[in-house]
Amino acid sequence: MNLKDTDGELFEILNREIRREDETLELIASENFVSNSVLEMAGGVMTNKYAEGYPGKRYYGGCQFVDEAENLARDRAKQLFNAEYTNVQPHSGSQANMAALMTFLENGDTVMGLDLAHGGHLTHGSPVNFSGQLFNFVSYHVHPDTGRVDFDEVWNLARKYKPKMIICGGSAYPRFIEFEQFREVVDEVDAFLMADIAHPAGLVAMGLHPSPIPYCDVITTTTHKTLRGPRGGMIMMGEDRENPWGKVAPKSGRVKMISELIDSMVMPGIQGGPLMHIIAAKAVAFGEALKPEFLEYSRQIVDNAKSMAEEFLSRGYHLVSGGTDTHLVLIDLTEKGITGKKAENALEKVGITVNKNMVPFDQKSPFVTSGIRIGTPAVTTRGMKEDEMKTIVALIDKVISSPDSEDLLSTVMSEVLDLCRDFPLYRDLIS
Ligand SMILES: *Cc1c(COP(=O)(O)O)cnc(C)c1O
Repeated sequence: MNLKDTDGELFEILNREIRREDETLELIASENFVSNSVLEMAGGVMTNKYAEGYPGKRYYGGCQFVDEAENLARDRAKQLFNAEYTNVQPHSGSQANMAALMTFLENGDTVMGLDLAHGGHLTHGSPVNFSGQLFNFVSYHVHPDTGRVDFDEVWNLARKYKPKMIICGGSAYPRFIEFEQFREVVDEVDAFLMADIAHPAGLVAMGLHPSPIPYCDVITTTTHKTLRGPRGGMIMMGEDRENPWGKVAPKSGRVKMISELIDSMVMPGIQGGPLMHIIAAKAVAFGEALKPEFLEYSRQIVDNAKSMAEEFLSRGYHLVSGGTDTHLVLIDLTEKGITGKKAENALEKVGITVNKNMVPFDQKSPFVTSGIRIGTPAVTTRGMKEDEMKTIVALIDKVISSPDSEDLLSTVMSEVLDLCRDFPLYRDLIS
C-alpha cells in the first residue's frame, strides 16, 4: 500500500507542493532542489534505524550499513572541504551552531557575532534564541557606506570586550566572508574564530569563495543551501587540536582532542539518535558535489547572481554592498517606496518566491522590513542561465512598480508559468 491508498489527504497535499515547486520561481537564497537520488535516500528505510553514537561505537546493534553510510558522508565532506574532522550528525544548522558554541564556550562567556539585521543569524546572539540566552553576545555591524563588515568597529569591540570567540558569516551577506581579516583580530585578542558558512558552503567547496579552513578554529554549515543536500547541519575543523581546557566530556570522561569534545557535545550533549536517512542522503549529495558538474553548477549560481545584480542596478535599484560575490543579492527598497513585506506578498501572488529581509540600519520592524533577499541556487538547479535572470528581474521590477495592479499581476503570473514550463522540475514525481 502506498500513501495514495492509505492517506489520500496527505497524498494530495504532497502533490500540491510538488506542483508549487515546479510552477513557481524559487528565489529564496537559502533554498535549493535536491536530486532524485538525494530524495530517494532521504525517503528511505534508514529512517527506521536507531544509531546513537558514531560509526564503530554505537549503542545499538544492526548498525553495519548505517556505519558505512556515515563513514562515506564524513570522508566525502572531508575531501570536499579539505577538513581533517567532520561531524555530519547535527539535525540542522542551528544544532551545529549550538554544539560548536557549547564546546568552545562556558555559559556567560562573551562572543561577537554579526547583528541579525545586518545579515547575521538567529544563532549568532539573538535574544530570542538559545545563543543570546546562554552567552553574552556583542554584535558587530556592516559599514553604512560599503555594506561590508566594519572592521574598525570589529577591532574596537574586540579590544574592549575581549570575547572568547568571534563568529563570522551570516544569512544575508552578499560578499565573501573575510576569514583572514577576522583571524588577525582573534590572534590579537586571543579568541577562537568560528565560521558559519551555512549559505556559501557549496561555493566554498568548489573554491569559488575563500575557504575558512586555514583561518578558523571551527566551521559550521547547513547541507541544504548552496551545497544542495538534504536539510541538515555539519561541523568541521581544518585540523583537530588538543583539548586546550582539560575539559571533560559527558560519558567518555577526560578527553585528549577537541574533536572528541564536539562529538560528545552533539551526542549525547544536545541530540539523541541521529537521522541516518538524512546522513546517508548527505553522503549522496556530497558525492554529487565531488563530480565536475557541480563546479559548473556552482559557477553558474554566481554568474546568475551577478547578472541579476547588474540588471537590478541598471533599473535603478539599491543593492546592499553594491552587488554580490556569491549566490545572493540584498535589495534595499526604501527608495522604491515599497516595504519588503508588500513586495514579498505581491511577488508571491505571481509565483515568484522571495523573502522580505532587514537591510542594514533598517527603520522598519522585522515583520515589515525595507528589503528583499534574492538567491539563485534553486533556479540555477532548474537549468536557468543569465538570459532567464534578466527576464526574472524584469518581471520582479514590473511587480514592484505596480504591486496593486491586478491586471499586471495576472500577466506576470502567466509569464512566470511559461518560464517554469521551459525548465521542468520533479515532473516525474507527480502522480
Ligand atoms: C540557515 C542558517 C543557519 C541555520 O540553519 P537551520 O538548518 O535553519 O537551523 C545557521 N546559520 C546561518 C548563517 C544560516 O544562514
